[in-house]
Amino acid sequence: MPMCEDGEVENVRVVVRVRPLSEKEVEAGYRQITKVDTVNKTISVENPQAAEGEPPKTFTFDIVFDTDSRQMDVYNETARPIVDKVLMGYNGTILAYGQTGTGKTFTMQGDCTAPELKGIIPNSFAHIFGSIAKAAERKKFLVRVAHIEIYNEEIRDLLGKDQTAHLEVKERPDIGVYIRDLSGYVVNNADDMERIMTLGNKNRVVGATAMNTQSSRSHAIFTITIENGDMGEDGKQHIKMGKLHLVDLAGSERQSKTGATGIRLKEATKINLSLSTLGNVISALVDGKSTHIPYRNSKLTRLLQDSLGGNSKTVMCANIGPADYNYDETISTLRYANRAK
Ligand code: ADP
Ligand code: MG
Repeated sequence: MPMCEDGEVENVRVVVRVRPLSEKEVEAGYRQITKVDTVNKTISVENPQAAEGEPPKTFTFDIVFDTDSRQMDVYNETARPIVDKVLMGYNGTILAYGQTGTGKTFTMQGDCTAPELKGIIPNSFAHIFGSIAKAAERKKFLVRVAHIEIYNEEIRDLLGKDQTAHLEVKERPDIGVYIRDLSGYVVNNADDMERIMTLGNKNRVVGATAMNTQSSRSHAIFTITIENGDMGEDGKQHIKMGKLHLVDLAGSERQSKTGATGIRLKEATKINLSLSTLGNVISALVDGKSTHIPYRNSKLTRLLQDSLGGNSKTVMCANIGPADYNYDETISTLRYANRAK
């Protein structure tokens, strides 16, 4: 894990995860064109249409997870240090980026059929309540969750009573950017949290069919807020609040410009806008020299504003497929991720 001089984990880290070839891909005879070197943290991608002698393209990241990576390793190496910080009152963001079908949802939520297939979100629940139990004698905690979706730059409350309502982003000097009328639930254990996550996911799918679209065209944000309070020497309660955003981004595949009209064109434009703004914001933060960070250019970055940059910890996980027919999208994802680090 890369450390800064003060021994802290870097503020923005970019990792890559390659999913295995699927059974279908194997049956169809597709070839794996990715090669990971976990020691040197590089990934090389071979161009299936390469001219003779053309070397593969190689990229370096903070961590590269190969096709055999386990969910718990991904959790421990990416999310765990951020969740520890959030428990102390800092903010953090974990984002899954990539083409549809490359493992964003597998990385964030995982597969509920087996405990070892749980993704970052449910693994964070166990971690959070485990840490709270250990600190219970000294500190009190209050944990709340919210779950939203951004589709076409409109915000939907996945835990709200009215699934059709579009919520507004507001800003107040004391609390910063917030969503008006958003439902927040206090949770007391990991099971509570898992139930709420499942409910939100169900609403995501239901809403998606009603709108005749797919969840791959929206960003889903699961937010965990943790307040911790301890009695100071002065006999007064000291409260700190940390916030963690867990983001399953819309598919990054290039939306075809030719032929897309009406709703599809609008969707494509908004997805491109928010993903490119996110890339610009992160690269401006990493660069450190920019005086203007374009948070306000999209709903996504506006909502993540207080959890990207400053003292916050961010991990972007770029997901890619290993197969030859994904070459163009894979290179485009690696370029995007490369710019963000
Ligand atoms: P996305 O959310 O990016 O569209 P998914 O997470 O739905 O992609 O993944 C597509 C398919 O690939 C799913 O069936 C998922 O279970 C499988 N998959 C993705 N990543 C992995 C992985 N690392 N190991 C095993 N299966 C994976
Ligand atoms: Mg998905």
